Amino acid sequence: MGPGPSDISPEVLSALSRPVIGHLDPLFVGMMDEVKALLQYAFQTKNEFTIALSAPGSAGMEACFVNLVEAGQKVIVCRNGVFGDRMIQNVTRIGAEAIVVDSPWGRAVEVDKVEQALIANPDAKFLAFVHAETSTGAVSDAKSLCALAQKHDCLSIVDAVTSLGGIELRVDDWGIDAIYSGSQKCLSCVPGLSPLSFSEKAVHVIKNRKSVVQSWFLDQSLVMSYWSGKGKRSYHHTAPVNSLYGLHESLIHLHNEGIENSWARHRKQHELLAKGLNKLGIEFIVPKEERLPQLNAIYIPEGADDAKVRDYLLNNYNLEIGAGLGDFAGKAWRIGVMGYGARSENVALCLTALEDALNQ
Ligand SMILES: *Cc1c(COP(=O)(O)O)cnc(C)c1O
Repeated sequence: MGPGPSDISPEVLSALSRPVIGHLDPLFVGMMDEVKALLQYAFQTKNEFTIALSAPGSAGMEACFVNLVEAGQKVIVCRNGVFGDRMIQNVTRIGAEAIVVDSPWGRAVEVDKVEQALIANPDAKFLAFVHAETSTGAVSDAKSLCALAQKHDCLSIVDAVTSLGGIELRVDDWGIDAIYSGSQKCLSCVPGLSPLSFSEKAVHVIKNRKSVVQSWFLDQSLVMSYWSGKGKRSYHHTAPVNSLYGLHESLIHLHNEGIENSWARHRKQHELLAKGLNKLGIEFIVPKEERLPQLNAIYIPEGADDAKVRDYLLNNYNLEIGAGLGDFAGKAWRIGVMGYGARSENVALCLTALEDALNQ
């Protein structure tokens, strides 16, 4: 119950152990088409360019920036935690300019401030933000932010690593242009894959770049032909065959449950956890209306030893919770209620274990 990787269901674990077949085998190619359709469902998009990148969420982030942004361009980047900060590093390494909009850690991105930055920088080409800040447990208003991007003629780049499958996310309805996620959070698969989706506008930008993408591996114009369509697939890299079996299985679970039901289940388990934490006198960092259900950031109670409590949970209950990250290191714990892990028995175990640990 940390910030990811989350618990994996027995069905996904067993899918991972199927025999390896060639990554250009017709059976495998058929399964990839299904993965694509299932990802389109998870993202709520019809985007033709919807794939699982063969690398973790951080590579999904990098893929969005290096494919879309060119040197000299301006990108408005929202920072309210660790992952927004990484976006800035991606932008500056490209030789582009990051216009940083800072919001307090533990709070949503401030939409008004973003609008001011868009007005002050009419030449900005992109707006980038993190939907679900895993470092702080805050959700930002992706719908409003993407509407602002459109109004000011910017493409939106959205980090949905922790949000996909856990909270409402509608790529097409909200007009998101580039979005990436991760396999190991609310999708409950093994780490190492990054679902990625680009709008037609984003694909157009990629196809009309002035410069070549500096990363050969992440250059999506090369990967497009491997993932796309009916035509002959050409070798780009060896796909992580078994990990994709796992993702396929976890996406089938999500589809069978229904995306809205999955969002509701995360909310319900969060509410159970919040009620129990409240009884233990533990306080949340994030105000109620900006809280992520799948990532509960709480203040370490007065007098409790951060590392000792987490060790106690691990050694006595086989239970992992997350430490604080960045500004919250040593001050907070992060309890994940993600994917297959978002179940009542987990929440009950966590509350019992935490109460015992604090008493000890
Ligand atoms: C976990 C996470 C990432 C990075 O994903 P990795 O799979 O660890 O590379 C990026 N952004 C957010 C918001 C995350 O929670």
